[in-house]
Amino acid sequence: MATKNTDNKQEDQVIDLALRPSRWDDYVGQRKIKKHLKTILDAAKKRGEVSDHLLLYGQAGLGKTTLAYLIAKEMAANLKITSGPALEKMGDLAAILSNLEKGDVLFIDEAHRLNHMIEEVLYPALENRKLHLIVGKGAGARTLAIDLPPFTLIAATTRANLLSSPLRSRFGATFKLDYYEIPDIETIIQRSAKLLNLDIEPIALNMIAKASRFTPRTANRLLRRVRDFADVNDAVKVTEDIAKQTLEMLEVDNLGLEPTDRQLLLTIIEKFKGGPVGIQTLSAALNDDSGIIEDVYEPYLMSVGLLTRTPAGRMVTPEAYKHLGIKNPKGDSLI
Ligand code: ADP
Repeated sequence: MATKNTDNKQEDQVIDLALRPSRWDDYVGQRKIKKHLKTILDAAKKRGEVSDHLLLYGQAGLGKTTLAYLIAKEMAANLKITSGPALEKMGDLAAILSNLEKGDVLFIDEAHRLNHMIEEVLYPALENRKLHLIVGKGAGARTLAIDLPPFTLIAATTRANLLSSPLRSRFGATFKLDYYEIPDIETIIQRSAKLLNLDIEPIALNMIAKASRFTPRTANRLLRRVRDFADVNDAVKVTEDIAKQTLEMLEVDNLGLEPTDRQLLLTIIEKFKGGPVGIQTLSAALNDDSGIIEDVYEPYLMSVGLLTRTPAGRMVTPEAYKHLGIKNPKGDSLI
């Protein structure tokens, strides 16, 4: 029997899908990327070819997967989805590649987690549409080259610097998705609220937007929690008070910081006198994976000016002391 928790998770996933834009017009923000992409796709369509391979990078929840869906739709193509960690053996990728049909779009999420052997299969497939298979074993083994139909690879990653440079060089265009502006996040929340049939006051909407880490997925997640809170309290409208109480319950503060973010700042302040501290030392002190610290916590803390990376390590800024209400022993200067 499903537990309440898995029920909630499944419901969240269903809602996630329902909120995912299926038209370019509903894909808010990232204007330059949309324009550039449209040019690439229009040109490919005009020539009757498939688009170049594309690399999308940026933090989780910024809309990379959604873009892949929109690109496939624009090209009237089938979208096949996999991810770096799902491709363990060379045969896993070979099976996917050999099943591709003309014009298909293959989306590989978390591409920085592709292992070296898989990359070796991918290179000739991207370069000249060849799939090299090894048939037989030992001395009798030989390589068979299979022709692949024209297809487009869209790879997504949160960490472009971890992709090997030979792989990176095989993409015709690379797009970096940035954090969204607050008005764009407000538009996304407004659209989601409409789809969820939720009446929300502008001030509550603004409060959720500000706590969303400038990230659409977080904005939608907070909106769902606010909706739960309103439902449980029989509220017909999401007011400022409801949004405030929900955020308090989730321990999300007015900058969108969660307990783990505050813990990271506090640890640097209390254990390392505000820094600098190296990532491995910090990871050990927090008992958290250094990749998660680098991928999830740090980019946002840096974007709101509470943390800096220096050659000597991570340092909190005077703003971090202010935000946490802690006296800065160094005054307001960084050094
Ligand atoms: P990523 O692949 O970068 O982790 P997703 O594409 O899965 O992010 O986006 C997460 C959710 O955020 C989507 O389901 C969608 O509802 C919403 N979203 C992302 N980008 C946008 C956007 N530009 N406009 C509207 N909603 C968006």
